Amino acid sequence: MALDFELSEEQKLLKKTARDVIKQFEPKRDELREKVMKRKEFPQEVWDALAQAGFFGSFLPPEYGGTGMGLLAMAFAVEEMSALGFGNALIILTTMDALCILKNGTEELKKRFLPKIADGTYKFCFAVTEADAGTNTCRIKTRAEKKNGYYVINGSKTFITGADVADYMLLVTRTISYKEVVEKGLPKAYGLSLFIVDTKSKGITLHALPTRGIEGMNQFTVFFDNVEVPAENLVGDENAGSMALFKALNPERILAAASAVGLSEYCLNIAVNYAQERKVFRDTPIGQYQAIQHPLAEVKIHQEAVRLLTYKAAWAYDKELPPVEVGAYTNMAKYLGAELAIMAVDKAIETLGGNGFSEDYGLAHLWEVVRLLRTAPISKEMILNYISEHVLGLPRSY
Ligand SMILES: Cc1cc2nc3c(=O)[nH]c(=O)nc-3n(C[C@H](O)[C@H](O)[C@H](O)COP(=O)(O)OP(=O)(O)OC[C@H]3O[C@@H](n4cnc5c(N)ncnc54)[C@H](O)[C@@H]3O)c2cc1C
Repeated sequence: MALDFELSEEQKLLKKTARDVIKQFEPKRDELREKVMKRKEFPQEVWDALAQAGFFGSFLPPEYGGTGMGLLAMAFAVEEMSALGFGNALIILTTMDALCILKNGTEELKKRFLPKIADGTYKFCFAVTEADAGTNTCRIKTRAEKKNGYYVINGSKTFITGADVADYMLLVTRTISYKEVVEKGLPKAYGLSLFIVDTKSKGITLHALPTRGIEGMNQFTVFFDNVEVPAENLVGDENAGSMALFKALNPERILAAASAVGLSEYCLNIAVNYAQERKVFRDTPIGQYQAIQHPLAEVKIHQEAVRLLTYKAAWAYDKELPPVEVGAYTNMAKYLGAELAIMAVDKAIETLGGNGFSEDYGLAHLWEVVRLLRTAPISKEMILNYISEHVLGLPRSY
């Protein structure tokens, strides 16, 4: 594996730019957190500021309205935003969908969608999960059938984040059923096809789910009843969507790791400030006790390691290193990011004692957010499966 990674001067400047863009929201951080975490409203002002500073175009080339700065630039932005105390799933999902269109879409699709993603106009969600398929994407049943210049879509997706806010959805369907590929002895991932679907299309209905864990955004079961999608909205080749899909998942995981690093920063700041102020015995701040200091110091050490690994994964993606290398860094960063963020919230709660559970500090709510990162967008177990099989060369276990 390559070891020649360090931030260039230009990248350091980008990181500073991301920090400066987000800094303007620091004075209203509590207000924003209240809006996102409690009222579940979309932080459009933060989205717009990132768009204006060019971050939505950072990972797109100039011919599609981008600046070609790379996914690493967006990782900086997501990290900085999360350090305010909330992430934004639609930033992550829009980025992953845009990169999927860039790498697999027709010229017409790229021209139609990417400039409007780069300038912050379009928001995208992503729909792969189905109730009966779960982690095993090959078993999805949502079907797309070609008729008169359209694909007609029937089926349902579940846990779809932000389907109510997004303008479009990158949808994973089957154009050949799982049963048929198994019967014909074809590869199980054959017959998957990806589409860009207008979320307001006739025949789409949303059923809100009582899930928790993502800041400010609801999840939905999305039903498709004879939804007509123009044939030109197919992303990549019909039936060969699995390669496009699996590569598209790396940016999502890299940005999830960046968000975890930012959230850990938020928790650490709260804990350190509290530890310096809070006095319980004599006139000694609790931050003077090693029992309080050491867990926070450990969070800092882990944070720096995960931050570097996350940047390295983004850099490997931008450099188009071999897929297994990109996949390895990406999955490792996502795995450790989740563990770091869980540790950071837990140690912050410990530092705050009873206040760790007060709505005023929001840490108990944040615990749900970071715990989700161990399960989604990819679970810890599936990452360990990936590393065992693709990095260690052990036989596939499932
Ligand atoms: C809040 C939230 C938001 C979400 N947003 C989206 C979204 O926007 N779009 C979308 O498409 N999906 C979304 N999801 C779905 C999410 O990606 C899945 O829940 C997740 O990937 C796990 O799938 P599952 O729930 O079906 O678990 P299952 O596949 O049923 O797995 C259950 C458990 O078994 C383990 N397991 C399964 N197979 C193996 C194996 N081979 N080896 C070891 N362990 C295994 C899993 O790791 C997991 O721990 C969201 C989920 C939540 C909770």
